[in-house]
Amino acid sequence: MLELKDKKVLVVGLGKSGFAAALFLRLKGAQVTVSDVRSAEALAKDIPALLEEGIMVEAGGHGLLTFRRQDLIVVSPGVPLNTPELVQARSFGMPIIGELELASRFLKGKILAITGSNGKTTTTALTGEILREAGLRTLVGGNIGVPVVSLIEDSTDDTWSVLEVSSFQLETTVQFRPAIAVILNITPDHLDRHGSFEAYARAKERIFAAQKPNDCVVLNADNARAAEAATRSVAHVHWFSLEHGVRQGAWVENGYVVYRSAPDAEVEQVMPLGKIPLKGEHNVENVLAAVCAARLAGVPAEAVARAIEKFQAVEHRLEYVATVHGVDFYNDSKATNVDATAKALGAFSTGIHLILGGKDKGSDYTVLSQLLRERVRAVYTIGSAAAKIEAQLRGVVSIHSCETLDGAVNAAASAAHPGEVVLLAPACSSFDQFESYEHRGRVFKQLVIQRQGNKVWQNA
Ligand code: ADP
Repeated sequence: MLELKDKKVLVVGLGKSGFAAALFLRLKGAQVTVSDVRSAEALAKDIPALLEEGIMVEAGGHGLLTFRRQDLIVVSPGVPLNTPELVQARSFGMPIIGELELASRFLKGKILAITGSNGKTTTTALTGEILREAGLRTLVGGNIGVPVVSLIEDSTDDTWSVLEVSSFQLETTVQFRPAIAVILNITPDHLDRHGSFEAYARAKERIFAAQKPNDCVVLNADNARAAEAATRSVAHVHWFSLEHGVRQGAWVENGYVVYRSAPDAEVEQVMPLGKIPLKGEHNVENVLAAVCAARLAGVPAEAVARAIEKFQAVEHRLEYVATVHGVDFYNDSKATNVDATAKALGAFSTGIHLILGGKDKGSDYTVLSQLLRERVRAVYTIGSAAAKIEAQLRGVVSIHSCETLDGAVNAAASAAHPGEVVLLAPACSSFDQFESYEHRGRVFKQLVIQRQGNKVWQNA
C-alpha cells in the first residue's frame, strides 16, 4: 500500500477519474494540488468541491514549479505522457502513476480486468452481470465510467472488481495485477496518441505485466496481435475463438458456446448461440471472452448462461433505435474506429446507409472498402474527417457530403427503402461537433424519433 499521509501529490487532469483521485488522496491525508490546462470557467463546476476539501487548483495551464514540488504525480488518462511538464518531472525521477494504479494499491479482493480495442464496455458489463448472477460480491468500474478509487470503500477480501481498462490507463501502471486479465482484440486505434500500432499494442499488454504464474490471461485466438501477446505472459493462458476449438478456453461448436477448463478436461456446453440476445458476431466474441473469464472466476456454466440470456446491449453499441417507414435505424455511435465500424457492417447483410465521420484519429478508411462494396448502398459523411474519408473511398461506394448529423440522417432516411438500414457507425471520435460519443448518439436517436413523429424521447 502507498503511504500518502502528508505527501505532496499533484493530480494532472481534472476529468472524472482525476476528480475522484484528488478527493481520495486528500482523504488519505495527502496535500493535493490539481492542475488542468482548461480554464477556471471550464472547470467551474468541480473547483468549489475541491477547494472545500483543502485541495489547491491550478487552472488554465501547468506551471513548471507545480510539477517540481511533489512527491507523487497522478496523471489522468486523457493527458498524454509526452506533455513537456510530465517529461521533465519524470527526468527528475518523480514517480508518475495513473488513477488505476493508485486505486489498485488500496482495492481489496481480486481484480478481473478487461482491455481491447473494441468490446471493453460490453464485455465488462456482461462479465459483471455474470459474476453477480452467481452471487459473487462484484464491483464494476474503470473506463466504463466509474473511477476505480470509488470502488475501494466497498471492496472486501472476497470482492471481485471487474474493471474496464484502456491503453491510456495501462500506460501508467506499475504493480497493477489482475488475477484474470482479458485482451479482447488489438486493432489500430488511438495512433494519434500512441504514435505507432506497436506502441499501442504494448500499452495493452501491460495488463498482464505484473501478473504471477498462478494468474490467468484470456486472449483472442483469432486476433493475430492479441494472440501473439501470449509469448510474453508468465500466467496461465486461456483462449477464445469464433473460428476453431482451443486447448483451454471458450469457442463455438455445433451452434453452442462451449468451454474447456484444461486440455484434458471435458468440453462443457454453456448455451446455444441462438440464446445470445446481442447482434453481430463481434458480440459472440465478447460473450466467449466473458464465459472464459467468468468460468475462471469460478462461476458455474448455468449461471453464466442465465446472465447472458438476460443481458441487454449497452447504449450506443449497435443499439436498435426505431423502424421508420420500414427502415431500421441503429445507433452505434461508440464505433469510434474502423474495426468497430467493420463489425457493425458485418451485423447486417446488405442495404446499409452508413453515416461516417467526425474527428479523424489517423485512421485508414480503405480497410472498409470490401464491406462497403458488398453491403453498403451509400455513405453519408459528417464532420472534419469528411474530406479524408471521401478521398480514400472515392470510387468504392456512393458518397454524399452532409457535413452535419442532421443533414446525414435526412439524406439517408430519404434514400433508404423499406427493409434497409440506416446505421450511425462513424469510425471517428465525436469531439469536432459533439461533446462525446454519447452526446452524438443521443442526438442521432432524437433525430430518428422526430422522423417518427414522436416528440418524446425518454433517454435523450
Ligand atoms: P469499448 O469499451 O472497447 O469501446 P464497446 O463495448 O463500448 O467497447 O464497443 C465499442 C464499439 O465496438 C461499438 O461500436 C461496438 O458495437 C463495437 N464492438 C463491440 N465489441 C466488439 C468486438 N469484440 N470487436 C469489434 N468491435 C466491437
